[in-house]
Amino acid sequence: MSSPTTIKDHLSQIRTTIFTNFPPEGELNRIEFEGPEIALYCKNPSAAFVSEDVVRRMAKLLKKRVVIRSDPSVRKSEEETVKILEQIIPKTAEVKNYTFNPDTGDVTVEALRPGVVIGSGGSMLRSAIIQTGWRPVVVRIPEIRSGIVSSMLHVLNTSREYRQRFLKEVGERIHRPPVITKGPIRVIPLGAFGEVGRSSILIDTEESKVLLDCGLKAEANNLEEEFPSFHALDFPVEEIDAVVIAHAHMDHQGSLPYLFKYGFRGPVYMTPPTRDLMVLSQKDYVDLKQRIGETPPYGVEHIKKAVLHTITVDWGEVTDITPDIKLTLTNAGHILGSSVVHLNIGDGKYNVVYTSDLKYAPTSLLDKANPVFPRVDCLIIESTYGGRDNIMPNRKDAEEKFAGIISKTLARGGKVLIPTLAVGRAQEIMMILSEKITAGAIPAVPVYLDGMLLESTAIHTAYPEFLAVNVRRKIYQGDNPFLHKAFIRIDDVSKRDEALGQGPCIIMATSGMMTGGPVIEYFKYLCEDERNTLIFVNYQAENTLGRTILRGAKEATFPSGGSNGQRTYNIRMEVTSIEGFSGHSDKSELLRYASAVRPSKWLLINHGEPSRSAELAREMKRVFMYGRTRPQIEAPANLDTIRLR
Ligand SMILES: [Zn+2]
Repeated sequence: MSSPTTIKDHLSQIRTTIFTNFPPEGELNRIEFEGPEIALYCKNPSAAFVSEDVVRRMAKLLKKRVVIRSDPSVRKSEEETVKILEQIIPKTAEVKNYTFNPDTGDVTVEALRPGVVIGSGGSMLRSAIIQTGWRPVVVRIPEIRSGIVSSMLHVLNTSREYRQRFLKEVGERIHRPPVITKGPIRVIPLGAFGEVGRSSILIDTEESKVLLDCGLKAEANNLEEEFPSFHALDFPVEEIDAVVIAHAHMDHQGSLPYLFKYGFRGPVYMTPPTRDLMVLSQKDYVDLKQRIGETPPYGVEHIKKAVLHTITVDWGEVTDITPDIKLTLTNAGHILGSSVVHLNIGDGKYNVVYTSDLKYAPTSLLDKANPVFPRVDCLIIESTYGGRDNIMPNRKDAEEKFAGIISKTLARGGKVLIPTLAVGRAQEIMMILSEKITAGAIPAVPVYLDGMLLESTAIHTAYPEFLAVNVRRKIYQGDNPFLHKAFIRIDDVSKRDEALGQGPCIIMATSGMMTGGPVIEYFKYLCEDERNTLIFVNYQAENTLGRTILRGAKEATFPSGGSNGQRTYNIRMEVTSIEGFSGHSDKSELLRYASAVRPSKWLLINHGEPSRSAELAREMKRVFMYGRTRPQIEAPANLDTIRLR
């Protein structure tokens, strides 16, 4: 292409390139920039598909994501389409619902077994679009229904016009011509450098500004330290081109609605499960603030805005997010949908990898993080457990100890209470329990589940493709470990008495640090009986009830309806904590990951207490001293800008 002068010229040149190279029998009618995708509307989609690999060829030619859609004039009526789809899709797929989107020509097919619909090589989808003019988008109906997901889909469905307009604007912005592609690249740490919480990094080039993560530090002492340092930016937040959210923990996404409250209207990229889990945690955060009589920093309307501006991407999909930056997300092994972020910047092809939170070892739920990238210039790696002494106990030993304590408690007629974080750890523990019960290592007693972990588990069942290979296989074979017969959902307060009135059992309930949630109710009932056991499976922060109990408190006082408004309980139950179920890498895993990625120019360390980040930096220097690459290794503080190039 010759050097175009205006955005309009540039876009029309892209259009001309497509029109001249598209197979004429496909009758290409219209080209739309829809977010990062270029949509080609054809009057003869069957011919477009018959010409072998036309999508792949166009994508290669343009180096952009291309999707073929039918022109509205050639689409069959919705009624006819449903009839045709019912013939094409085998009954075993168990399709429950079709939703048509006339703007895009997509029909969402909700099926219990989407694998059957997609078939091998997507031939069924191709024949569906050829026969009906509609492009089927197949989604899995979670085996457990999620209220959060339904309400979010409702928001998206009722705001289609807004969403269409937004995608068009984003598309035209992404595909504008880059002017400077070899200029400086700066990393501006806005949060979670020399600390854990409020993760946020600005990647700043001459062409674009991209924010990696947008976290919130809930336990901060003041408002200024709760949010990333946006106030330090010398431009308004509206000028940020895109936000990338690596995973759904609040310390990585909790400030996103706040950004929308203050005027940001750009796109936010993340995996589909990250979006769902993110909405769940943000709503819970707002609810909690309101319940304790505090004003939340943002409202549900800002959470909705963020959802409307979210563009989901799957692992491995290369996506243009600005004129000079391509994004690829791959597995980070930390929680469902968690991603390592890879940015390919400018013509100089400068590559930045940001781990966000990382687990470089397999867990029961997830495969280990991906370390394979063609070339990496800068690696930004976390250091939560990067300290000298952070060697984690062997996982197998931890599991055995866990099973042993449970079995002993049940044998003496006691009940086991496990406070759990809603997202990630709860499902990991569920996987271990279902395995151990099936294998007979733990007696087959009921496992009651209560609190926010129910919603979060429902979301896990919707995305088997983001879980470990063996878990995914089980789900596809109809043997969903989250639906193990031992698990009983307490989705109504009245059912709690039933759980407590029975004999020996296991109870998992949120919150994980006993700062609230149903776990408190169970604790009050169980704590005075020495046959029972309380097992902590995650870190207990300072100033939490969990920490106080773990340190050996003999009593706990809670508000009650009694005469003086509170009641004190004696803690006689066994209290124990098991380490080794962490979703973070320990020091040796972090070192191995960095060695595998082998950054050539920079290695930046974040997300850790200052001493741990510094210790990891020292260790990294030792590892890379004789390595094939010798990156500059730093553990910068927040707002210490680093110029990469
Ligand atoms: Zn995390």
